[in-house]
Amino acid sequence: MTENTSQQDPKTQVETARKAFEEEFEDFVRLGDYAEVLKLPLVEALLKRKEFEEFCRRYTGKKGTIASLKKLIGQSGPDKRAILGSQVQQLEKWISDRTNQVHYSLSAYIQQSQLERDRIDVTLPGRRPRRGHIHPITRLRERVEDIFVSLGYAIEDDREIETDFYNFDALNIPANHPARASQDTFYTTEGFALRSQTSTVQIHAMQRRGAPLRMIAPGRVFRRDTPDPTHNPMFFQVEGLCVDRGITMAHLKGTVAEFLRRMFGAQTVTRFRPSYFPFTEPSAEFDFSCFKCGGRGCRICKQSGWIELGGSGMVHPNVLRIAGVDPEIYSGFAFGLGIDRMCALMYGLDDIRLLFENDVRFLEQFD
Ligand SMILES: [Zn+2]
Repeated sequence: MTENTSQQDPKTQVETARKAFEEEFEDFVRLGDYAEVLKLPLVEALLKRKEFEEFCRRYTGKKGTIASLKKLIGQSGPDKRAILGSQVQQLEKWISDRTNQVHYSLSAYIQQSQLERDRIDVTLPGRRPRRGHIHPITRLRERVEDIFVSLGYAIEDDREIETDFYNFDALNIPANHPARASQDTFYTTEGFALRSQTSTVQIHAMQRRGAPLRMIAPGRVFRRDTPDPTHNPMFFQVEGLCVDRGITMAHLKGTVAEFLRRMFGAQTVTRFRPSYFPFTEPSAEFDFSCFKCGGRGCRICKQSGWIELGGSGMVHPNVLRIAGVDPEIYSGFAFGLGIDRMCALMYGLDDIRLLFENDVRFLEQFD
């Protein structure tokens, strides 16, 4: 109320208030129509409701126009009090009648829109749970297994803790043999060690199943190596063994060459180099033509065109005999290769330890 209005007589003040209300209400009157409110975006309806509530408070609030008019009633003479009282009351009712509809349509619309906004939208894509995948070494191992199973080989799985007998003696590596030093492993209790090669499975398999026999044994082996980019004290090997009547070096070469062709492509060439292993005679290491450059020379094959992969040979008669197979009747070939080394080559890893650290950021790339 301005100075000016307070000097007006109460009846005029009621009339002035009514006119002021009517003028301001012009801005909101259309919102009493629900169809009009429907055209508003939710944010704007919220804004309008705030403005409208402030407007109403100025008239009907505790410190609003109606409240101050009511004070005038008490200050009026007894003769005018009743008339003024009923005039203020009428104005109050008139204002509330006019504003109710706007309150109602705005609130109804806002409530409805918020409900719709918060409702679960079943057409939205859901949040997928994080799904793991197979470790690259396991994937490679499965590929190797598939190839050999299709060649008629069985898959043998055996113990990782071995006796000296299976890890060394049975493989024609007697005590004090220099080969024991290069394969120094981890010893547990007296006479037991973590196997340093999967060749131990050859002995178990021949003892259990006898000849003829065709099997591969993928698995972990252990060496007392200091970890570096190309060494790890635990790594994966695949061992292969074929024992039958009349098995020759030609079968070995044919099998390894076929495996590498299936693994790295039909153009792959295999090469054998004479070598020495205590448990085979003759022995050979085998290389294959680089899968990256096809033999021309690149970073992966260190410009040689060849990749060294594993060792092989004809099973030593002593090994057959110890495992209970008669070397006069049967002969066989064996081979072994490192899966992690092959994995590092195929994926171009500079450090083999990445495969064992189990850093999810690294492993995720192999999905
Ligand atoms: Zn190459």
